[in-house]
Amino acid sequence: MSTECPGCAVTIERDTSTCPICGYEFPRHPARFRILTVAALAGFALFLFAGLGRGCGGP
Ligand SMILES: [Zn+2]
Repeated sequence: MSTECPGCAVTIERDTSTCPICGYEFPRHPARFRILTVAALAGFALFLFAGLGRGCGGP
């Protein structure tokens, strides 16, 4: 299994966490982290939505 480095566009093994050519560090977040990110984004969207509903009392 291989992937393409976004830094230098060379194809490298997916096992590697860092590109041996340009030193690009691949983000290797565990699934748990992704769920947290989605939850945080959802909370932020909710916060924005609530703020818009309250603050948008225009003429
Ligand atoms: Zn690279």
